[in-house]
Amino acid sequence: MELAFDDSETARELVERTRAFMDEVVIPTEREEFLSGGDMTDAVIEALRAEARDRGLYAPQLPEEYGGLGLDFRDVLPMFEEAGRSLLGPPALRVDAPDEGNMHTIEMVGTDAQKEEWLRPLVAGEYTSAFSMTEPMQGGGSDPKMLQTTAEKDGDEWVIDGHKWWTSQGDEADVLLVMARTNQEAHPYEGCSFFLVPPDTEGVELRREVPYLGDAWGIGHPEVIYDGVRVPEENLLGPKDEGFQIAQRRLGPARLTHCMRFSGMAQRAISVAKAYVHEREGFGEALSNKQSLRFKIARAETRLYAVRTQVRHAARQIARGNEARTEVAMCKVFAANVVNDIIDDMLQLCGGNGIARDLPIAHFYEEVRAFRIFDGADEVHLRSIARASFENVDREELATVTRF
Ligand SMILES: Cc1cc2nc3c(=O)[nH]c(=O)nc-3n(C[C@H](O)[C@H](O)[C@H](O)COP(=O)(O)OP(=O)(O)OC[C@H]3O[C@@H](n4cnc5c(N)ncnc54)[C@H](O)[C@@H]3O)c2cc1C
Repeated sequence: MELAFDDSETARELVERTRAFMDEVVIPTEREEFLSGGDMTDAVIEALRAEARDRGLYAPQLPEEYGGLGLDFRDVLPMFEEAGRSLLGPPALRVDAPDEGNMHTIEMVGTDAQKEEWLRPLVAGEYTSAFSMTEPMQGGGSDPKMLQTTAEKDGDEWVIDGHKWWTSQGDEADVLLVMARTNQEAHPYEGCSFFLVPPDTEGVELRREVPYLGDAWGIGHPEVIYDGVRVPEENLLGPKDEGFQIAQRRLGPARLTHCMRFSGMAQRAISVAKAYVHEREGFGEALSNKQSLRFKIARAETRLYAVRTQVRHAARQIARGNEARTEVAMCKVFAANVVNDIIDDMLQLCGGNGIARDLPIAHFYEEVRAFRIFDGADEVHLRSIARASFENVDREELATVTRF
């Protein structure tokens, strides 16, 4: 189903070429290499990346001088959606989390030397990275003010001590972006900073891999100890004590790119389920003739259209220089719930085949649940939306009631 969005000419052209790449290369590779019981090896990803480079689609969101295509954020967002149609799409195009958000962060606030050392090989796909912010109880999680990891200055070095978990990809990363308190006196929102930490620095310990739902396909989310880890002053990423502002600037766009990747996943699930009910007969006719199933598809398409429109609108706000925090929170919580519902419904429509790993939906189902938790749990976003809403209470609305 073709729907109209007011995307730019550049965005539409990119989407068309990305769709061809997904249909001709990525989805056949997914079927051959993964759904048939293979593995998402580095060699498979490297071959896909080579093809993406040849087609002029690789790293579209990153600056040209570091190896990307240097395109506008709004123009590449629809491409993220196409990429999301397969779990292989985002790594193939180098728009995969968490590297995508980490590269954006280094690009935003990194020094030239940091960009040369870390961003260039990250864009090239030679390096991977991890974002190390969340901590076990009673550290920073939904409430980031509870952050306990510290970094203290000792001469021209910083000494980091702390305990993190859910450091996605931390088990294989070439650089860890670690958030720590650098000013104990200040309010936590004004006293935290980011550091670039090579994982082979003395004192960095991968304590364990957290076993989790969705690990058949996914990356590791280890628990990491930082015990007296020393990094030089030049590894401070961005201004000292502005860690929360940096995290916020990272998370706004990163939440939207997540919404788009997951909306692509939901779109593919709809497409697979439609094909299944179209072919499958039961009770004397194709299942696709059953009105209740048709309505499920119609509702899914309608809600997904709302997600995609909403994300594009928030992206425009960000491009105009607005933080759009409430709009992004709305996108995140709405998209996470819509794509969870859609993938659950589409799995149901495929019957036993929805559970089998012959189709991609079983993987999608496992993968999508965490989206209601990472990048801020539903309730955390609803809390900030409610706060923004209650800033504007019109007491005059009670005029009629108070007359009685
Ligand atoms: C797959 C995955 C990948 C992740 N990757 C990373 C990563 O790369 N880097 C990183 O730093 N972190 C990462 N995380 C961590 C993630 O950001 C946190 O799990 C998330 O912020 C929630 O924090 P928490 O787990 O400590 O939950 P808690 O803070 O313990 O909250 C538990 C639950 O309480 C509810 N809740 C919390 N606050 C409120 C409130 N004010 N009102 C009502 N209800 C509330 C919510 O339902 C929440 O889910 C990842 C998590 C997952 C699952």
